Amino acid sequence: MPKSVNTIIERFNEKNIRLTPQRICVYQFLLENRIHPTVDTVYTHLKKSNPSLSKTTIYNTIDALSSAGLIRTIIANEGEARLDAYTDFHGHFFCEKCGLVTDFCLDGCSFPDQIDGFEMKTIEVRATGTCPNCR
Ligand SMILES: [Zn+2]
Ligand SMILES: [Zn+2]
Repeated sequence: MPKSVNTIIERFNEKNIRLTPQRICVYQFLLENRIHPTVDTVYTHLKKSNPSLSKTTIYNTIDALSSAGLIRTIIANEGEARLDAYTDFHGHFFCEKCGLVTDFCLDGCSFPDQIDGFEMKTIEVRATGTCPNCR
């Protein structure tokens, strides 16, 4: 699902985050590649078209996007951090064989907004098993 740069600029403005070419580039990559990549995967892909890109820049950029709430980190099998630019509520399926992380829709499911006595920040739905390719 390609996102126009205008949409990206709007979202950055909504979140009050400064626009830099690196931030736009990383955010666009994550929106267009809904593969929940690791930081390393993002770096490897973007390095091809931006040879001067450093890993530090990528880490700083991802930190800035996360702090602004534009992206989030999900923890995959073996504690690997994977990035998601889709912050709407959805579930994640983790393939135990190839490491694939896929979204699934939770529309129509009901979950509590609060749990008595606790201050809940996030709620997650994770499924594990084998993806169609690995079956
Ligand atoms: Zn798989
Ligand atoms: Zn996701």
